Amino acid sequence: MITIGIGANWDTQRKRLNIPNDYITAVIRAGGLPVLFPLTDNEAVWKAMIDKVDGVIFPGGEDIHPREFGEEVIPQCDEIVPERDAQELYTYRYLLSTRKPFLAICRGIQLMNVAQGGTLYQDIPTQAPTNINHSQNDTPTDAHKVSITPDTLLHSLIGSDTSPVNSRHHQVIKDLGKGLKVSAMSEDGFIEAVEFADGYPGLGLQWHPENLAPHDPAMQRLFDWLIKEAGKRA
Ligand code: MN
Repeated sequence: MITIGIGANWDTQRKRLNIPNDYITAVIRAGGLPVLFPLTDNEAVWKAMIDKVDGVIFPGGEDIHPREFGEEVIPQCDEIVPERDAQELYTYRYLLSTRKPFLAICRGIQLMNVAQGGTLYQDIPTQAPTNINHSQNDTPTDAHKVSITPDTLLHSLIGSDTSPVNSRHHQVIKDLGKGLKVSAMSEDGFIEAVEFADGYPGLGLQWHPENLAPHDPAMQRLFDWLIKEAGKRA
């Protein structure tokens, strides 16, 4: 089976990994085999994880340490797990050298942007106030709308110019990383999806398609795409 590696959240207090199950079921629905990546400081294991899988999901989670994009931590920045930052940044860079595909969701798109040399707003209400609430943690399926850029990979998968999305983030892309292009924007002008200008098979999404996929075929197609792309390289 096509194998998709998925990162996980680190529960510092209980020393446990956890991952919302919707990521798992979206991969299985697409015909893939999801496997969870351990959190470790062992570089050989980081590399071996990528060599073992056909594609990757960088999921949601804690805030990335602002030092990774050259800033001091502001008080509104949320929980940070530097060990996870180190592992995922390495994993991201090594993954790109293998040309394997990935989906980068929520924290994932932020990681992708930072790894490509971009920056983040550490807290939207503090640094870029807007009248749309992007941090709707009871996950309504239509927290806000995004417009999808024509002639992008995302547009070809979603199949329409706009889409309602869920929204559970208090950080968002500020300066776009090198080599990336915007594939969706929120109505208040934030970057909500990115992809590669050179066509590398990677897609970043600020919303949570894994929660929408059970009821929205357009969102499931993002996971179907990942497994299909991963299959080309397996
Ligand atoms: Mn949003």
